[in-house]
Amino acid sequence: MKYEVSNRLIWFKGELLHVSDAKINVLAPTSQFGLNVFEGIPCYWNEEMQQLFAFRLEDHYERLIRSARLIQIDCPYNKTELTKALVDVVVANEYKENLSVRQTLFIDGFGSWGADGPTEMFVAPIPRGKTSAEYNKKGLHVCVSSWKRVSENALSPRIKCGANYINSRYGQREALRNGYDTCVFLNEYGKVSEGPGSCFFMVRNNRIVTPKFTDAVLESITRDTVIRLARNLGIEVEERTIDRTELYTADEAFLCGSAMELTPLLSIDRYDLGEAKISQNLHEAYLEVVSGKNKTFIDWLTKIY
Ligand code: PMP
Repeated sequence: MKYEVSNRLIWFKGELLHVSDAKINVLAPTSQFGLNVFEGIPCYWNEEMQQLFAFRLEDHYERLIRSARLIQIDCPYNKTELTKALVDVVVANEYKENLSVRQTLFIDGFGSWGADGPTEMFVAPIPRGKTSAEYNKKGLHVCVSSWKRVSENALSPRIKCGANYINSRYGQREALRNGYDTCVFLNEYGKVSEGPGSCFFMVRNNRIVTPKFTDAVLESITRDTVIRLARNLGIEVEERTIDRTELYTADEAFLCGSAMELTPLLSIDRYDLGEAKISQNLHEAYLEVVSGKNKTFIDWLTKIY
């Protein structure tokens, strides 16, 4: 039986529970200070093969462990255990559809923001249709945020922790207030960094260009996938610092992430962008890969069933 999202099973501290029975105390450092690190892991259903594929699990777990290490959250699980928890909870829900699986390590107990444990985990599959509205749009009108992206020497954007999403929230809420779908942040040096939950690419003279990791961006798995797919298709890729004015003269641009896939930008600060051609080709190539139809990249997929 497939469970409704409000009543689905989640993996919580080693057990499979109905989500409403999975409770965290209000004094836990994760509740009070956002002391957690997490991954959003995409899984794609292949109807023909009757199979659900988790995408680049190994890389998501590498990043989870790195994020935990950077803010000194002890990760008590190895990659085999992390994988088993994900597979168990998806299978228990009998999901046969595209998912984003939230896998979170958090500090439980009654300590302060400096507490070093206890570390616990939950794993919650979310059907794709239930993710944020901007993730399900065909094209986006974006603004450059008046807020700066978090910076390496304050709260590094390389760490995928709950607290970093307060900065994302600033940008996203401001964009919505002003009639845009979402935003692009500049970094502390005024150069282009990323979206609130996605990485930025532009197309210029048939090449794709994206900021470097040292320009204040998350080490995104979709960004890496796009770069590899582009090179495989013979499209040149540049990883370099991008100026603000380049946003307004780009031929095409898109945001990308596990939840958003590749979503073209229709305009930036109301400067219209060109038709998404290369962006669209790359998106199609991406969908072939994540759904197991392109066998060249089959090693990136883990079978759930
Ligand atoms: N940047 C930020 C700030 C994000 O939250 C995300 C989503 N995880 C991304 C980029 C894209 O990362 P990924 O491709 O690994 O989902």
